[in-house]
Amino acid sequence: MDTTGRFRIAVGGITHESSTFSPLPARLDDFDIRRGDDLLRAFGVAADARADLVPTLLAQAQLSGGQVERAAYLRLAGELIERLRGAGPVDGVCLALHGSMEVEDIGKGEEDLLTAIRAVVGREMLIAVSLDLHANATPAMVALADVLTSYRTAPHRDARQTRQRALNLLVRCLQRGIRPAPYLVKLPLVLQGEKAITDAEPMASLVRLVEEISQAPGMLDASVLVGFAWADVPYATTGVIAVAGGDAALARRQAERLAAAVWEARERFAFDVETGTLDHCIDIARAALEPTVFITDSGDNPTAGAPGDVPLFVERLLAKDVPDAVCAAIPDPEAVAACREAGVGAMVTLMLGGKLDPVTSPPLELAGWVEHLSAHGAGADDLAVVRVRGVRVILTARRRAFLAPEHFREAGIEPLEHKLVVVKQGYLFTALRRIAPRMLMALTPGLTDQVLERLPYRNLPRPVFPLDPVSSEWRP
Ligand SMILES: [Zn+2]
Repeated sequence: MDTTGRFRIAVGGITHESSTFSPLPARLDDFDIRRGDDLLRAFGVAADARADLVPTLLAQAQLSGGQVERAAYLRLAGELIERLRGAGPVDGVCLALHGSMEVEDIGKGEEDLLTAIRAVVGREMLIAVSLDLHANATPAMVALADVLTSYRTAPHRDARQTRQRALNLLVRCLQRGIRPAPYLVKLPLVLQGEKAITDAEPMASLVRLVEEISQAPGMLDASVLVGFAWADVPYATTGVIAVAGGDAALARRQAERLAAAVWEARERFAFDVETGTLDHCIDIARAALEPTVFITDSGDNPTAGAPGDVPLFVERLLAKDVPDAVCAAIPDPEAVAACREAGVGAMVTLMLGGKLDPVTSPPLELAGWVEHLSAHGAGADDLAVVRVRGVRVILTARRRAFLAPEHFREAGIEPLEHKLVVVKQGYLFTALRRIAPRMLMALTPGLTDQVLERLPYRNLPRPVFPLDPVSSEWRP
């Protein structure tokens, strides 16, 4: 605390959601890195009369991917630690983490980072952490931090509020001299985020229970951590955390109560959307009365770490001669460069996609004409639209997700003017969900396969529901 009675809180973090099934490592330029006032703006917590925030380093991945490259992680973590050391005396640390970051040759990134931070600030200083709902929490993470609180929405729309809650809890504990007691229960349950949307049951009720427990006497917070299933790690299972204001036995009781409610609900986690094979989804969409149908290509979902360049949907849309479809998007810098060289209106022959993920599908040979090129010219954000009969394929120079109508407008496309719109997502993100007259999820193959039985798990603890029979007698 400084002479004005305000607490000095160091803030920062490294966030990445890592699919160990993806061969594409996350590199330094896959992160948005912020320092100083830029960091504080991105952290986005409101000014607090009781706390001064001291920025360290905030590195947020633009998109999920494979494991983080060791050198990239070490450089980010090294700078964060160096800035923390240089921050002068602080009263606490508030971090934004994801909870499912895997680092090449290091393993669980959050454990490594928290260990390094503890080595600087010591065992006694309070550390508060905000986590993604899809965090693969571990006992070591909970032992290294004091307050851990996760998003309560999926699709996510409360990242900023969660960071704010972490900070508020930290300041409250400092003011009142509370030593938080977090308790983690891991369940023998592996869950796709797509089956745990918070506006649908059973998650809606579980989030209400989270809020109830957070407000119970003696409690500070609670979280359901759905987990991240596309990581072949021993902790890719669902967990719950309860944080009590000092009473470890109370934290344990409340965590066990929450875990029991999640376990009780295990059979009711389900996709909240109509699903089918790729061909089936195309057929349903074509026959639909709705003017536009969004289909998610869920097996090749870059927002969950897949490369995103599997061209199977394009292949089937063409084979079925679909008269009006948009495919967003295939990352393929060579194809974009070929389109730019040819120019709008020119014919191009491309070997499309299948390069980042050559396992799920080889490249697709395709001849079409260049309908659109992005205004901003060649570079990392370049994109092109290639049209083959009624099928328009958006090609991007880098991996990116089309999550909102304005992303399509960059490609000169108004999504609601087309019958079929294919996006590389699992659940449809909020801005598209809001406008979609109808949505389908195609259970396509790929590195983010929603059919977990098809994934080559070797490290997942077994038995795990629903892949194996687990005794209904299981108790936290
Ligand atoms: Zn998430």
